[in-house]
Amino acid sequence: MKIRYSFLLILLAATLAAQTPKTPPPTRPDDRLKVDVLLVVAHPDDETGVSPYLAKLLDEHKRVAAVYLTHGEAGHNNMGPERAASLGAVRETELRHAMTKLGVEDVWFLDGLDTPSQDVLQSLGRWHHGAALEEVVRMVRLTRPEVIITWLPAVFIGEDHGDHQASGVLATEAFDMAGDPSIFPAQLAAPVRVNETLLEGLRPWQPKKIYYFSDAQDQDQFKGTGPLLSVNEISPVRKAPYGLIAMQCFGFHLTQYRNYIETFSTLDEEGQLKKAREDWSDPIQLTFGKSNVGGNLTDDVFAGITEAPIGFVQHQAEVAEPPAGISLELAGPWGFYEAFRRAHGLQHLPKAAVPEIAIATPAALLIPVVLHNNTSSAKEVALSLATPEGWSDQTGVGSYSVPAGSDVPVQISVMSPKTTADKVDEITCRAEADGKSVGVIKFHVRRRSGGLPQN
Ligand SMILES: [Zn+2]
Repeated sequence: MKIRYSFLLILLAATLAAQTPKTPPPTRPDDRLKVDVLLVVAHPDDETGVSPYLAKLLDEHKRVAAVYLTHGEAGHNNMGPERAASLGAVRETELRHAMTKLGVEDVWFLDGLDTPSQDVLQSLGRWHHGAALEEVVRMVRLTRPEVIITWLPAVFIGEDHGDHQASGVLATEAFDMAGDPSIFPAQLAAPVRVNETLLEGLRPWQPKKIYYFSDAQDQDQFKGTGPLLSVNEISPVRKAPYGLIAMQCFGFHLTQYRNYIETFSTLDEEGQLKKAREDWSDPIQLTFGKSNVGGNLTDDVFAGITEAPIGFVQHQAEVAEPPAGISLELAGPWGFYEAFRRAHGLQHLPKAAVPEIAIATPAALLIPVVLHNNTSSAKEVALSLATPEGWSDQTGVGSYSVPAGSDVPVQISVMSPKTTADKVDEITCRAEADGKSVGVIKFHVRRRSGGLPQN
């Protein structure tokens, strides 16, 4: 007891000494937080898509940290009755164990709510986009990554979680903004009073590269869009394939994958190795986003990266020409991504050749469109929908009066057949004015038995 009291006195003396004006405050950012790679994702377990690669980077003494936009509280729980915020707390713990095993020590959870839909706009709305962006920019300035790895912001048939897409949107925005001293200046202002809590004393930070990964069902479409990373390579440090290391870390996500994990954990080492190879042999396909240090799409992630920091790089935005005359355009997430890619110089990112989505049948498919009238007179525009057999109950089609120089947003919906299908259905939306076609949108839909709602 006496020793403890003495120790407290020493601590108090040291604290008082640290607060005397003679001791200058630290001027360099805290080096313990500096990383080579910052992973920005949505849910605890999202790291699994790239964790074999993270394990390899850690072997190479790269520093890795991760930011999760939500706690995954909308997931299911196969371990107990805990749901909602309590499930979020459980999943945070699962994730921290998984990342510790992987070798990632610094993990942050932000304030986004797990939003189960395929609509990125729902997630951004529920996360209060600006507030979430400020948090992600803070994490970039705090951790000073050379490279950001995140979800591909795009709509594809696949898991297609709106939260995944939204984390990719925010990471991209933060990549372009964190180095800009005019963005979130309170983060950069230095506090002058003791215990001042509103000014943060950070520095602008310009990351060098950003890469994406995707949970789209068809991974072939990403071939050649970035480096391809093996999961079968053997870790010289852990003497096991990176894919197996990743699966062993994944083994902490029991609330989500209990049956699989429990079966996997009953296998001996050789059995686990065989199972890992059977279930995960495909390499990880990264998609190149942007580089501020040159290089090509398929170069190694760290090609061209040195320790020297780079200054703020003003990103190049492209301004869209307004469509001439009367026109029809896909809106909602698809319309947003057109604008987003132009704004961030990401027109090269892959997108589905024909806009696509998967829906759980039976469900109403929603096709958000906008009618543009860039003429000097009001126009009547007729919207129609052609569907394969079995689709029914169309709404939103018909005639619209579009004032001169105006846009009219329209939500079209059509009820799917009750059956699932392996092939995609093609749905065609047409707009006509003055007896002539003014726009055609084709849309591909896969009918599946489950999965996230469209929005
Ligand atoms: Zn997820």
